[in-house]
Amino acid sequence: MKKIIDNFLSEVNSRNKNEPEFMQAVSEIAETVIPYIIKNNIYYGQNVLLRMVEPERVISFRVAWIDDNEEIKVNRGYRVEMNSAIGPYKGGLRFHPSVNLSILKFLAFEQIFKNSLTTLPMGGGKGGSDFDPKGKTDTEVMRFCQSFMTELYRHIGPNRDIPAGDIGVGSREIGYLFGQYKRLKNEFTGVLTGKGVSWGGSLIRPEATGYGVVYFIENILNQKSDSIKGKRIVISGSGNVAQYAAEKAIKLGGKVLTLSDSSGFIYDKNGISSEKLSAVMKIKNVKRGRISDYLKLYPKSEFHKGQNPWKIKCDIALPCATQNELNENDAKTLFNNGCICLGEGANMPCTPEAITFFVNNKVSFAPGKASNAGGVAVSGLEMAQNSLRYNWSRKEVDEKLKNIMFEIHQSCLAYGKEKNYINYVKGANIAGFVKVADAMLAQGVV
Ligand code: NDP
Repeated sequence: MKKIIDNFLSEVNSRNKNEPEFMQAVSEIAETVIPYIIKNNIYYGQNVLLRMVEPERVISFRVAWIDDNEEIKVNRGYRVEMNSAIGPYKGGLRFHPSVNLSILKFLAFEQIFKNSLTTLPMGGGKGGSDFDPKGKTDTEVMRFCQSFMTELYRHIGPNRDIPAGDIGVGSREIGYLFGQYKRLKNEFTGVLTGKGVSWGGSLIRPEATGYGVVYFIENILNQKSDSIKGKRIVISGSGNVAQYAAEKAIKLGGKVLTLSDSSGFIYDKNGISSEKLSAVMKIKNVKRGRISDYLKLYPKSEFHKGQNPWKIKCDIALPCATQNELNENDAKTLFNNGCICLGEGANMPCTPEAITFFVNNKVSFAPGKASNAGGVAVSGLEMAQNSLRYNWSRKEVDEKLKNIMFEIHQSCLAYGKEKNYINYVKGANIAGFVKVADAMLAQGVV
């Protein structure tokens, strides 16, 4: 078995040299899906996985724009259209200086399986730019977004490819991108998700990823006759996903101890209450400040500069910042400190060695493609509402989100049950794969 997997990975690697993040995501899928294909003698000889790892289309383009000092700036834009077997391409846009093709291909590849798990008809895609919105004025961000969309608009559409937000792309950026698309196409359609509620957005979309992670963790714990109530929770990040994961965790009775950003983490041993979280949201979303500003309001808390929060004792860990932010040593520290459950809010925040450690030590480990699928699920609901020209209430969307997270958990159980342990990595990978593979086979060699 190992030889078959190694041969497969070496063939993929030969075509994707210098793309470590992409190869990391492919390896994780191959290690669980290839044994399934062989053991069950299905899809064998069809090269389905080999087809899946090759993007259907990759678009790369120049984004030239003028800053406030009238200096011409140049960034690179991308859209990776990975797989459209079960629906139009769907996945976020990331604006961050670290963005490159390897990172976007890993995200687009993960998105195939995640979207499949939601039960909604969405293919996988991802895009973005190495543009950094941090420190830019609103007008600079607007000019960049307009230039970015002036190229992207010809490749997307409500039945073709529907981008959304990701790191660095929040409601402000989606607004500017949508405005430019509408101007160029002269049509008002659901081409982006994450829109403002008064112009086609869905209620609960901003909250969906964070809420979804916590609903998924609650499902894991319920399965063991336990719950989030009273649990100590350590969260990394303080952006969209982290904020709403914290909000829902507090609502369900959990005690949230940390939040972070790229400069370090804050630790509030008394717990971050709803009021304190509102203050964080103001700091991060309105003032566009740093997480260390928390100390000015709550001086009894601590700021750990340049560190991640995994050394803080907890029952549940929710990495919600970025890829590869939690390594094997962090995993060991968490385990030795009594952590029983980890839910990936970010995409691929745990290194492969960390995941292996959690699985070998029977820590309940929820991979991002399952646990953070709530965001894209509600994006799918936003697309449905746009097509219907109708809006569901907050309660209706939240109920649908809760049900989808429950169904994803059930799918993981269907394929991930092992002796005395639920292997959610295996469960999510195989469940996500089967639906897409069946559709690809039905559609012939394309
Ligand atoms: P935001 O831009 O809103 O927040 C990102 C947070 O992560 C910020 O606190 C940021 O700190 C921190 N961060 C970013 N890069 C690093 C780094 N290299 N080291 C430490 N901290 C870092 O993004 P989101 O909350 O939307 O996304 C977070 C993660 O969740 C990403 O992996 C994303 O792909 C994933 N995700 C998001 C979804 C969504 O709906 N938004 C859906 C599914 C997954 P700073 O401000 O200092 O940069």
